Amino acid sequence: MSSHDAIVVIGEEEVLQRLINDCRTANRTRFTLVADPNTYLALGIKVEAMLQAQGWSVKRIILENNPLRADEQALFTVFDQSAGVDNTFLAVGSGTIHDITRFVSHRTQNSFISLPTAASGDGYASENSSLIINGFKASYRAKRPVGIYAYLPTLCAAPIALTTAGFGEMLGKFTTLADWKLGYLLWDEPYDEHAAQETWLALQNCLGQIESIALYETKGIRYLTQSLIEAGWGMQRAGNPSPAGGSEHQMAYYWEINRLRQHKPLLIHGARVAVGACLSAGYYAALRRITLSEAKKTLQKMPLALFAPQMEEIETVFGPLTERVKEDQKLFLEMDEPAYKQLKKRVVDAWPQIQSIAASVPGPQQMVEWLQQVGAAATADDADLESEEVQQALKYAHLLRGRFTILKLAHLFGMA
Ligand SMILES: [Zn+2]
Repeated sequence: MSSHDAIVVIGEEEVLQRLINDCRTANRTRFTLVADPNTYLALGIKVEAMLQAQGWSVKRIILENNPLRADEQALFTVFDQSAGVDNTFLAVGSGTIHDITRFVSHRTQNSFISLPTAASGDGYASENSSLIINGFKASYRAKRPVGIYAYLPTLCAAPIALTTAGFGEMLGKFTTLADWKLGYLLWDEPYDEHAAQETWLALQNCLGQIESIALYETKGIRYLTQSLIEAGWGMQRAGNPSPAGGSEHQMAYYWEINRLRQHKPLLIHGARVAVGACLSAGYYAALRRITLSEAKKTLQKMPLALFAPQMEEIETVFGPLTERVKEDQKLFLEMDEPAYKQLKKRVVDAWPQIQSIAASVPGPQQMVEWLQQVGAAATADDADLESEEVQQALKYAHLLRGRFTILKLAHLFGMA
């Protein structure tokens, strides 16, 4: 696969040979390899030896923190130890290593090459870094890799929890895509039909290989990796706010910021996304059961005071993040009665389209079955989430990022 403006190669030994050839062609001879102890052993050591065998220099940076986070400390280490100007960074690892490396390479005006060690997420082609600065996670402008070299023997040997998280991330595209259409239909959010179709295709290709993925076979992992890269790329290209995602990512993000604030361990991203996607699928299923006349009746009864975010609530729930949430929720906070009436009218007028969007999302039971088939976390329990955390996300995650997703609609119908 050689698509878009980054080289994407997925395969076995030929992938590393291609890496060497491409580096020679591009005249790359100085490298900074960033890895953690596990990913260094899983792939870094092999790549390092191959590059050195060409007579090229490789500066190795092993990030030892466990759990590793893309925070100030990790960034400083890489800035401090990197080979400086005129070198190519190699990110050898999964999402966190990539977030760190793509940020530093961008800020030092160097290129970077992606060497994923697990099919655990869709961010390999991303041009943003998700960093934890001052204890808060935010997205920072970074750069795309010049190439993604996905070496299947390493990807297939990755811890199962990482691969299943990648599958969870992929399944989350059902609700991402539905939410994306919903935001376009009801809130005039930007929408890119071509990117949506590409993502949908990637999702279908991945589901088509579910049996092979469930066995962690090379063929299945190849499809999963390819789908993740294509879906991530599609969303990225559409200029969707990063990290790309809908209500499932709002919930994943909600759990994440709360755990960070409470200094509790974080769950792996894709597992949180999967659980969020099942919960959102539940809302879409509930929506499908509402007839137009019921919708009209319910909306008529729903006062603005119950729909618009409440300041005290934002302060209590989000504490130090209040300012950012207020900024994101500006349009909802400032909504007046005429605008609210207009929104409700829009929902009623678009009911057939809303129903067809809802029909594109599988039922929550089907989502759970697919996740369980590959051994991925599907329920809050599997993902080590307390029921209190689930309830709070259903209630408050719609306040994160000023998007109009199913969470806002569920709120409008008094479901949340
Ligand atoms: Zn994600």
